[in-house]
Amino acid sequence: MPACGGADAPADRGTRARAQTRDPERATTSGTDEPAELPTGVEPPPPASVVPDFASVEAAAGPTGRAIAELEPAECRAALRELAIPHQRSTDERARGVVAVPVVPTGPVGGITLTFEGRRALHRVMDCRLLLAIHAWAPLLRAAGVTHIRHLSAFRPGARVRATGQPSGHSKGLAFDPRFFERPGLETLDVLEDWQPRERGEPPCGPEPEEGQARAPLPSPEEGQEAGAILRGMVCEAIRRELFQVVVTPHHDEAHANHVHVEVVPGVDWSWSG
Ligand SMILES: [Zn+2]
Repeated sequence: MPACGGADAPADRGTRARAQTRDPERATTSGTDEPAELPTGVEPPPPASVVPDFASVEAAAGPTGRAIAELEPAECRAALRELAIPHQRSTDERARGVVAVPVVPTGPVGGITLTFEGRRALHRVMDCRLLLAIHAWAPLLRAAGVTHIRHLSAFRPGARVRATGQPSGHSKGLAFDPRFFERPGLETLDVLEDWQPRERGEPPCGPEPEEGQARAPLPSPEEGQEAGAILRGMVCEAIRRELFQVVVTPHHDEAHANHVHVEVVPGVDWSWSG
């Protein structure tokens, strides 16, 4: 099954210091805090313990769902321009002929700033379609007050899925490993600490529905697990909207303890999450 393995997999798993914004004082008062430094056009965040109704969040403008994965290079470039998504083309030789349209985000994407936390600048590069999928994900993130994602990598040349040896979505710049979701005035959500519960092997978004049935809503969180419910809600609604075709969470294996792997897969009619 898909995974983020490979020689270039981030080595800091589980050892990175906690986000600076995790402050118990702040957590108890954040519902009344004035949020600081909100980008223009971004709504103030909801109270810390409230899990937004993600299913009711309006879709972003522009391409969405599975159609993003099927965009031709020229169509994808045109969409980035039309949506004014700030980016620059990557001219790195290692992306040439491997990543269909290699780009680096240079500003907020649908109100979400993307910061690369890893070691090699090359790993910031992503395919245009992945950037568009993140743009389509942005309204769900903003509904939870998120304005900033710190991620571990996107493009990793030659990356392979650990379990199968097959090329990983990272090898084409189509996969992205967010770890920290920062929310001005609220606790940062950290996949390593906050994705709870996280029993290995459990489906991250609840049981698959029967044919023709709607997926059951996620259960209300146990006390103290609201952050996990918010993380899960953002990810599971993105899956339901078919923004990503492969999603690997801390439920899957130790390699995904500290991030969620989200991947755009062209040319398929299935999705997989675990
Ligand atoms: Zn990954």
